[in-house]
Amino acid sequence: MLGMLGGGQLGRMFTQAAHSMGYRVTVLDPDPLSPAGAIADVHLKAAYDDVEALQQLADSCAAVTTEFENVPADSLLWLAKHCTVRPDGEAVAIAQDRVREKTFFTKTCGLAVAPYAVISSPADAEKADVSLFPGILKRARFGYDGKGQTPVNSAAEAKEAFVAMGSEQCVLEQRVELQCEVSAVVVRGADGVGGSFPVAENRHRKGILDVSVVPARIQPMQALRAQQAALRIAQQLKYCGVMAVEFFITRQGELLVNEMAPRPHNSGHYTIDACATSQFEQQVRALCGLPLGDARLLKPVVMVNLLGEAWQDGAPSWGRLFGVPGAKLHLYGKHEARPGRKMGHYTVLADRREAAIKQALELRAAFYPDWKD
Ligand code: ADP
Ligand code: MG
Repeated sequence: MLGMLGGGQLGRMFTQAAHSMGYRVTVLDPDPLSPAGAIADVHLKAAYDDVEALQQLADSCAAVTTEFENVPADSLLWLAKHCTVRPDGEAVAIAQDRVREKTFFTKTCGLAVAPYAVISSPADAEKADVSLFPGILKRARFGYDGKGQTPVNSAAEAKEAFVAMGSEQCVLEQRVELQCEVSAVVVRGADGVGGSFPVAENRHRKGILDVSVVPARIQPMQALRAQQAALRIAQQLKYCGVMAVEFFITRQGELLVNEMAPRPHNSGHYTIDACATSQFEQQVRALCGLPLGDARLLKPVVMVNLLGEAWQDGAPSWGRLFGVPGAKLHLYGKHEARPGRKMGHYTVLADRREAAIKQALELRAAFYPDWKD
């Protein structure tokens, strides 16, 4: 029995991989309709810091992992006293806090990030360096999918946004001129052996991942550097499990680390259909102390997210997608569609990357008829 803190789609795809490999799964998630809870062997419907539920996880599971970043790090630290927990709470705590994360990337790992300042008070915002504008004010904690972020053009705007966002600690980041964004999903076993999946090129829409193209359309050396940077971060964290690192590639060709996620990542969903081993199988392998699988790409692939917007007139019709031989649909079993909510994704595999892009974008246009881009 394996334990999973969090019952979203990442937990669901982990559970599917674990089931294929002969494991049973207990999911802890308060939501009675959670996507992973619906297919888990046991679903504990309790809060993430509920001691009784954590005790039950510890008693019944050989090892416990997590699927969402904002799981209380204290719950992981508590569980670690009773059973195997991977990744450990300390690594998750660093990833949960943009200030600690950026310090870690720059000071410990020697990697470059976008110019930024820590904003802990209105006075910090007022004296922010002009070079940081136009910028983005991001809450240090509890942001995802572009939530908890405000574009700001001046120190006065930054001060206003800081107060409007609840006067919680923030980072003010210079808005970087992007050539593109990429990510590297890496896995590191308990024995320290690490490996990286191919780098994905990611396009976002309104702060939410929209399309991933693999292999990324960047120089092979640039992709290698991204993989090496992600592996260095995992090594320095003594990380065990799957993690993702997001990067900006600037117009000048500079590689900047954006953020990390201590779990499988949306930009790694393509691995289910296009790699010899998926990111979720790697998560199971690392958690169980098994040898890691082969992360090689079998075919060029494009992944497109299916957001609630595609459910505007009820569930979309899937006929067209099933008519594309290289297309695969993955739905997460969510009961309610809301704008921006990740309902599922699809991939399109083809022998040539450009053909996969063309087919995937044609399907996308039909799912989102109102979208201009
Ligand atoms: P989240 O935790 O919501 O994923 P990110 O910091 O990754 O937050 O921001 C979401 C997206 O917003 C990024 O993928 C990128 O497209 C855009 N973005 C964020 N920060 C910057 C920046 N400093 N310069 C340019 N674009 C940015
Ligand atoms: Mg991000």
